[in-house]
Amino acid sequence: MIYADNAATTRLDADAFEIMKEFLLDEYGNPSQPYTFSRASKKAIAEARETIASCIGAMPEEIYFTSGGTESDNWAIKGGVKKHKGNKLIVSSIEHHAILNAADSLEHDGYEIQRLEVDKDGIVFPSLLSSAIGDSTALVSVMLANNEIGTIEPIKELAEKAHEKGTLFHTDAVQAVGHINIDVKSLDVDMLSASAHKFNGPRGIVFLYIKNGIKIYPFMDGGAQENHMRAGTENVAGIVGMACALKKNCSLIDSEKKRLLSLEDELISGLDANNLKYIRNGAAEHLPGNISLSFMDSDGEMILHRLDLAGICISTGSACDSQNTQVSHVIKAIGVPEEYANGTIRISLGKNNTSEEVSVIVDRITKIFK
Ligand code: PLP
Repeated sequence: MIYADNAATTRLDADAFEIMKEFLLDEYGNPSQPYTFSRASKKAIAEARETIASCIGAMPEEIYFTSGGTESDNWAIKGGVKKHKGNKLIVSSIEHHAILNAADSLEHDGYEIQRLEVDKDGIVFPSLLSSAIGDSTALVSVMLANNEIGTIEPIKELAEKAHEKGTLFHTDAVQAVGHINIDVKSLDVDMLSASAHKFNGPRGIVFLYIKNGIKIYPFMDGGAQENHMRAGTENVAGIVGMACALKKNCSLIDSEKKRLLSLEDELISGLDANNLKYIRNGAAEHLPGNISLSFMDSDGEMILHRLDLAGICISTGSACDSQNTQVSHVIKAIGVPEEYANGTIRISLGKNNTSEEVSVIVDRITKIFK
């Protein structure tokens, strides 16, 4: 099996698994309890918070644990927009459905939503954002890197435009954290969502960065966990596993970037050597290993299933959209020509992929078309 769908999810890091086992089988005390047995889990959470904060240039108290990228995105935009003055939310048109559908639900509640257009590479222009922000705009949310085409957005400039007009800025960095260097202070974002299973951590645990001083409504009412902001007994094993995986991935970001870009080159030159007719989607500044290709007069579903028969896992649009066989909202928004749009696939290479696997992928794709 060749797993080339790392943007959908990643394999759990073996060290993260080992450390998680300890907190599942031995140190299982509820961190909220005052007795000695719970001290290890309480201490582990505090250390994990510090580790995670240091990986993104934040302070430990700015890190809040939640259960998923979807939860963090929902919390950030709903909790942010409702707390701040104004009834307008601006998002990009190529956000993940965790943002787009949360925005739809706010619209249903009477909020005004503006969905910003992007250029052919999926870039949101800061000048366009600036002219969209009005007095009633409470919050702007633009993703750091797109899950389907890998485009990295000019977040620092976009956040600057939002702040010039006194508006909160959130970024969905689910695909970016652990894969590119991120410093929340230099990006100057107010909130940032991440997701552990995208960086070789476990599922069902993530974090939301909320800058000190930024006020949003708590996500859930209940116990006093997460500084009264996100109630519920902590997923201690998940939290320590996430911190372990993030620290490891962050220490390898530069070398992995180089390796993945070289694998991308191998894949692209292999397809070109076989004269396949395709367009590569996304900007030059993109997530290493994220390769979105649109093949002429083809069908992405067909390519996916043929590769599946050969033991290769890839994706058509985003994994969360696998029920939907229509051209994705991202491919539509960047204006991929009709004769190419249906034949779109996403290959997302990660930490465990090799050059040999890339040659097999090229070989199999070529066989499909020849
Ligand atoms: N945001 C982006 C950009 C994503 O790619 C995903 C998942 O694919 C999510 C949010 C949702 O994250 P999760 O699956 O952790 O809920």
